[in-house]
Amino acid sequence: MKTSQRKQILVTGGAGFLGSHLCERLLAQGHDVMCLDNFFTGSRDNILHLLDNRRFEFIRHDVTFPIYLEVDEIFNLACPASPIHYQHDPVQTTKTSVHGAINMLGLAKRLRARIFQASTSEVYGDPAMHPQREDYWGNVNPIGLRACYDEGKRCAETLFFDYHRQHGLEVKVARIFNTYGPRMHPNDGRVVSNFIVQALRGEPITIYGDGSQTRSFCYVDDLVDGILRLMAAPTELTGPVNLGNPGEFTIRELAEQVLRMTGSRSKLEFKPLPSDDPRQRRPDITLARETLGWEARIPLEQGLRPTIDYFAGIL
Ligand code: NAD
Ligand code: UDP
Ligand code: UDP
Repeated sequence: MKTSQRKQILVTGGAGFLGSHLCERLLAQGHDVMCLDNFFTGSRDNILHLLDNRRFEFIRHDVTFPIYLEVDEIFNLACPASPIHYQHDPVQTTKTSVHGAINMLGLAKRLRARIFQASTSEVYGDPAMHPQREDYWGNVNPIGLRACYDEGKRCAETLFFDYHRQHGLEVKVARIFNTYGPRMHPNDGRVVSNFIVQALRGEPITIYGDGSQTRSFCYVDDLVDGILRLMAAPTELTGPVNLGNPGEFTIRELAEQVLRMTGSRSKLEFKPLPSDDPRQRRPDITLARETLGWEARIPLEQGLRPTIDYFAGIL
């Protein structure tokens, strides 16, 4: 790569599931990557294969504290993403989203660097509009168990757009819908990892509620493509833009698919539905399709294969 195109790129949350895949892709594009993480949910194992690369640097740091670095671009992904992890220390979750955003935006402002924010479909809460478009403002309980994550991410979006308007910062905000793939945390309680781990161990598949609630699952490679396209898009394309796979499945259908693909004889076990659990979720990705020329290409069955192989390898 010509040195003019080679950038110094900071990825916060880079030792996590999505972050580690993003670091890998940025290195493959020839960039220098600084991966910043406090290992709250991420791990050294996720980036072990990158540590020998001379263009890769790891920084152990908590984004809620200021940091002074020299970079050309920032991807802000630091934040626990699964209910079990973000509800473990909810005050820290809000701090990570809000103080973390302020620090990373302050850094971007000093450097005049373009900055990406990993926002989430959770900003739509339990949506009263289906599928969810970016102009829908959401239906979030501000004092519920999910609020530390949902409201933290909503406030981070506010900060991104205020830094954009007030300081002319180049911001890129993606609302990421449920994404899965290798390096998901096996104990993070998310549905794809839970079902695969349970099926592989022959344990009961835990369906919360009656399993009729829906989600749309995007494979990690598709998602990283979308993130990179948004970051490379012209300045005026700030988002927020939905990134996800519109294929919608009930949780019961997912359980049956995982059972078929693993050949497992695990039984289904029905458990109470957690509070504020959204009934339905599917992204409207018209905006991403029209402005970024992006859409998810990997269907659920195709993405589940390497994900199952990954979990079979680590269990
Ligand atoms: P993850 O838990 O694997 O990754 C998050 C990373 O952030 C971890 O490595 C963790 O150690 C790190 N981290 C947490 N708090 C930190 C702090 N205070 N300082 C520094 N590092 C910190 O989760 P993920 O699925 O890879 O999610 C990455 C980002 O994408 C998150 O911001 C999440 O909200 C967002 N997102 C993910 C999904 C999904 O389905 N995976 C959906 C929507 C949004
Ligand atoms: N900040 C940082 N690194 C930098 C620049 C700023 O961590 O290189 C932090 C700094 O601690 C500050 C925050 O980002 O509190 C917001 O910065 P900004 O310049 O927007 O605000 P101010 O410094 O006026 O509080
Ligand atoms: N879920 C389930 N069994 C599990 C884990 C999750 O039925 O073992 C359900 C959960 O109640 C929710 C859906 O699967 O309706 C997706 O849950 P996840 O935590 O993966 O993501 P989110 O709710 O944040 O979309």
